[in-house]
Amino acid sequence: MNAIILSEPGKLAPHDAPEPATPGVGEALIRVHRIGFCGTDYHAFHGRQPFFDYPRILGHELGVEVLAVGEGVSNIAVGDKCSIEPYLNCGSCHACRKGRANCCSNMKVLGVHVDGGMRERLVVPAAKLHVSKTLSYDALALVETLAIGAHAIDRAAVEKDETVVVIGAGPIGLAAVQFALLRGARVMVIDRAAPRLEACSRLYPAVITLDPEKSFIEQLTSITCGDLADTVIDATGNLASMGGSLEYVGHTGRLVYVGLAQGEVTFNDPLFHRREITLLASRNALSKDFPEIISAMEQGKIDPLAWITHRCTLAEIPEKLPLWSEPKAGVIKAVASLS
Ligand SMILES: [Zn+2]
Ligand SMILES: [Zn+2]
Repeated sequence: MNAIILSEPGKLAPHDAPEPATPGVGEALIRVHRIGFCGTDYHAFHGRQPFFDYPRILGHELGVEVLAVGEGVSNIAVGDKCSIEPYLNCGSCHACRKGRANCCSNMKVLGVHVDGGMRERLVVPAAKLHVSKTLSYDALALVETLAIGAHAIDRAAVEKDETVVVIGAGPIGLAAVQFALLRGARVMVIDRAAPRLEACSRLYPAVITLDPEKSFIEQLTSITCGDLADTVIDATGNLASMGGSLEYVGHTGRLVYVGLAQGEVTFNDPLFHRREITLLASRNALSKDFPEIISAMEQGKIDPLAWITHRCTLAEIPEKLPLWSEPKAGVIKAVASLS
């Protein structure tokens, strides 16, 4: 069976993977139709993903078809089109028992800790599949990225007419923008790269993009008449940005770190205390986010298909993924098609 394997940093190659076993109790055999490329995949390719083991079959943003189901599976049927929730949680740790499977202490993310979807077929727990009767495989492959943004906005409990500042206009930042807008917030975006700001304005005309040539805090102060942001979402994964982003949070506001960085974030404590800021981390997404996002897409409330800027086949991944990992490629979202 055709697959692509990352045998070590910088080495992506075609691979003849074994056929998956017959699905067992609670499992499903799926055919992969679309694979979205994520920052995690690019970082793993360049050897910059922490706690990553090689060799690994990447791919966790998937649009799939159900080929067979094992005993006791009732949420899906053969022929269904699905999105995958790639967070394989243990079900018994403290976080899982509290219903917070997104931060399971034994988390295995498909395509990160265990082999993922850059192959024709695989077996997954059926409970991790979320069906749509109408969406395309392209749309289904985008659900996971959107879920990361939806969860970050949930963490901050963003409300109508609040001011939300999103820092970093990559796919996760755009996903946060999408769900902040859906809640009726006034959304501003900070990024230093002009092409990303242009893409953001094109996709979401209601968003105010701050001018990277001028002081961000001065612009924010002026637009909000000194109130600053109710919520700041930092989607940069950059320590300096994360430490500095407190400055944009207004009194009683929330700051959510959705981007992940290695190392220590430092910030000014008097600022943190004076404004009584709530600091939150946001990791992965909850199971409930998937059907909610699928439903919002089915109803046309959100339409992220314009995010897809680059496409290739499974066989072209070893050639294209390295090129598309470079900022100059101008990729918002790249998708590989197997059908
Ligand atoms: Zn991803
Ligand atoms: Zn767990």
